[in-house]
Amino acid sequence: MNASSVLSLVREDLRAFAGYSSARSSALVGDVWLNANESAWANPADPQGSARRYPEPQPEALRARLASLYGCTPEQLLIGRGSDEAIDLLVRALCEPGGDAVLVTPPVFGMYAVCARLQNAPLLEVPLLDSESGLNADIDAIIATALSGKAKLVFLCTPSNPAGSSIALSEIERVATALRGRAVVVVDEAYGEYAEQASAVTLLDRYDNLAVLRTLSKAHALAAARIGSLIAAPELIQLLRRCQAPYPVPAPCSALALAALEPASLATTAARVAEVKAERARLQQALQNAPGVRRVYASQGNYLLVRFNDAQVAFDALLAAGVVVRDQRAAPQLGDALRITVGSPAENDRVLQVLTAARAAA
Ligand SMILES: *Cc1c(COP(=O)(O)O)cnc(C)c1O
Repeated sequence: MNASSVLSLVREDLRAFAGYSSARSSALVGDVWLNANESAWANPADPQGSARRYPEPQPEALRARLASLYGCTPEQLLIGRGSDEAIDLLVRALCEPGGDAVLVTPPVFGMYAVCARLQNAPLLEVPLLDSESGLNADIDAIIATALSGKAKLVFLCTPSNPAGSSIALSEIERVATALRGRAVVVVDEAYGEYAEQASAVTLLDRYDNLAVLRTLSKAHALAAARIGSLIAAPELIQLLRRCQAPYPVPAPCSALALAALEPASLATTAARVAEVKAERARLQQALQNAPGVRRVYASQGNYLLVRFNDAQVAFDALLAAGVVVRDQRAAPQLGDALRITVGSPAENDRVLQVLTAARAAA
């Protein structure tokens, strides 16, 4: 499959779309910049004037650092306002409203369905299968449903939020192969840092209908900076860039992200990831033995999905102790479940204190 065929999956009316021509995107040079109606003076709150000018649309230094972090080339990477923006861009650019479908695997992260709804893209749901080994993606059903339901986008969340399961790279390859020329397979690795398995970025050279989402919001502890990455074929990245807002990356956020990608910060992040994994194992073990707990799913993320005899009682007991967890009961198959983020050791102790106390044991 050559590089142009992934563009054949893009909405026909957008293939030649040039987008907005920003003041920063042309090859102009000068030392007096009067082309963007910016102020000539710095704001008193920003004496260095670091925020006075519109930022680079795709800050080059940050793009290079993110690319090296994730193991791709800068041309394969688009920086967005969180991976949420990339999800929205993909749906808007690929799905003809009312025609091309989006496939999701519930229970799963809700933004895929929200973006599909906003685009009036039909939603195809292939439920995760619950078994001894966990809540896992049903690969054969995903392929069959995507083909019969005219999916343009297939979202595979691995590690899956909230289920915690991951999808083997060989299974991802199977989906990408089966849907070649028909759909883009989006592998959402928001929690990839906590997983044992290699990133699907390693498959990109072989499947141009594959895209990977990464973010600084979770393991890198920068949720408020809103820095997410979409990694895909350069042709697709260029096209999506033209559909994106003119200056999507605020300069203070990009500076913060660059600092977070310095070796010392990365070393601290890696140490924290290791600590979370150790705490995840401890919490899982302890919760399994807690009264009222029906099942704790193994997790490759920084959270645990837990089934309770009475999830309301557990939720209320935690809340009464000041601990807020995610109620999953409205999600399909999860009528008795809560999702608990792995916190600091002290925070996890608090969870365990509450849930091992008699009153949570319904
Ligand atoms: C948190 C989360 C995201 C969103 O990440 P941002 O980069 O903050 O937008 C994407 N996917 C999944 C599965 C998530 O849990």
